Amino acid sequence: MTKKVDLHTHSRYSDGTSSPADVVSRAKSAQLDLLFLTDHDTVAGFPEAEAAAKECGVDVRCGIEINTVEGSAHILGYGIRWKDPGLLERLSEFRERRVKRIRLILEKLAAKGFALSFDDVASGTRETLGRPHVADALKRKGIVKSRQEAFDRFLTPGKPGYVDSMGPTPEEAIQLIRDAGGFCSVAHPDTVAHKERFEEWAAIGLEGLEVYYNTHSPSDIVRYSGLAERFGLLATGGTDFHGPGSGRDKGLGVNLPEEVYGAFMERLAKCG
Ligand code: AMP
Ligand code: ZN
Ligand code: FE
Ligand code: FE
Repeated sequence: MTKKVDLHTHSRYSDGTSSPADVVSRAKSAQLDLLFLTDHDTVAGFPEAEAAAKECGVDVRCGIEINTVEGSAHILGYGIRWKDPGLLERLSEFRERRVKRIRLILEKLAAKGFALSFDDVASGTRETLGRPHVADALKRKGIVKSRQEAFDRFLTPGKPGYVDSMGPTPEEAIQLIRDAGGFCSVAHPDTVAHKERFEEWAAIGLEGLEVYYNTHSPSDIVRYSGLAERFGLLATGGTDFHGPGSGRDKGLGVNLPEEVYGAFMERLAKCG
């Protein structure tokens, strides 16, 4: 037996293209048992998701994804007290650092002859800015055809518009989520170059690994389940839905074995 859930989704409060209500309505159509909205560095989309979920009977909870300074190490948070003032203050600070980074990216692109206005880039989000909004602005200008092309040509290390992340360290992200009463999972573990970091992070309070992910093959799932077991981590799962036109817009939902779902729900029930 399995449970269909999505513990990793984005709305236009960060770099998704859908409203929170649209994400909820897709969760309803996909008949999910559980949905988490995990926007980057913001929880501001959650009230809209919650209102929409009340209408249509979807179980939606508030999560978060914090992109860290360490390349593609992204930390997902579950069970957080999402109105916690300390949490909100730190997230707001992370968003300000993102604005600084985007301004530097725009300076680099302008120097190469690709001038974009900050307001045009910022118009893509309700709250958290990121490289995908630069990608969308390049697309609107006809310079690239997709977010993927923008990342490949301009926005990844070694490319003309790349600027290092100004996010917190993984350790800080884990501590922040724990301080807000929640627990953490490492998103899309494929993108973390040094897998030995999982063990180090487990020692300081990491509790999960995103074993079930849209790009994982059955053998990836076996491999990551093994790693999770070795380090005493819960398995989590999600699609990283970013909405239509994002290139990450396949249907919502991954199937979790009943016991994996049960262990996650048991941990979630202890939060508060
Ligand atoms: P940032 O938070 O500004 O560093 O941007 C990272 C975000 O960009 C990730 O969370 C993804 O949503 C998205 N992203 C990363 N790589 C790609 C890619 N190759 N194509 C499309 N989106 C990407
Ligand atoms: Zn994203
Ligand atoms: Fe991510
Ligand atoms: Fe994500």
